[in-house]
Amino acid sequence: DLTHGTILYLDDITVSFDGFRALNQLSLNIAAGELRCIIGPNGAGKTTMMDVITGKTRPDAGRAFFGSTIDLLRLRESEIATIGIGRKFQKPTVYEHLSVFENLELALRADRGVRASMLFRLSGEQIDRIAEILTLIHLRDQAQRTAGLLSHGQKQWLEIGMLLMQDPKLLLLDEPVAGMTDEETERTAELFLSLEGSHSLVVVEHDMKFIHDLTRDNPAKKVTVLHEGHVLAEGSLAQVQANEQVVEVYLGR
Ligand code: ADP
Repeated sequence: DLTHGTILYLDDITVSFDGFRALNQLSLNIAAGELRCIIGPNGAGKTTMMDVITGKTRPDAGRAFFGSTIDLLRLRESEIATIGIGRKFQKPTVYEHLSVFENLELALRADRGVRASMLFRLSGEQIDRIAEILTLIHLRDQAQRTAGLLSHGQKQWLEIGMLLMQDPKLLLLDEPVAGMTDEETERTAELFLSLEGSHSLVVVEHDMKFIHDLTRDNPAKKVTVLHEGHVLAEGSLAQVQANEQVVEVYLGR
């Protein structure tokens, strides 16, 4: 079922650490343009799954494709970083002493390095692109502000903006709204929904309110529940919430 519309295809992925299976025959299929929420208790294997996709961890077995042709397991981590997969870790990592605009500018020219980038003027097209991203991440009126002075949520948006400057096809987001205010959480859902369709997004999240916000426009949107290294349930939010095994995993016996 490796179809044309698939952006990410994981098949029977197993990862062992000293005999312990962090991923146990995990299979996951993400369609191009899809926004997929992934939930699961601590230790379910969510981080390990992201590490496999980005080449940080090599699985013992299984297959992993990006698009229909790129075999992720044949690429090095540094190579995977250049093919259109952007990953956002939980903590924001922006250049605190630079302005919001400069952070995006640097991300745009990341391949040239900090010093070299000072030698080149931005093209009109590049400036337009930065302006577009600034609007998308709700920081249009903060462009000249020092990044270190932004709120936690704004820093998270800036980092997402920095990822977007590199035109990723697939975004991997690890607990993007952790530590955000309710208003910031809502605006982050708005941002992700505006990226859906033109980008594929895999969002690992604990905040059920946020998952509600992300699926409200389409109640059939798929949510995946990971547990003990494999997919325990997959379906609409209502379906997985009604799943007895899921309830058991979350509430304990
Ligand atoms: P999650 O992100 O869902 O909380 P992880 O992918 O971080 O889960 O971890 C899955 C399991 O694998 C956990 O039990 C964790 O202790 C174990 N694990 C993860 N990384 C390593 C490692 N480098 N060495 C040993 N065990 C690990």
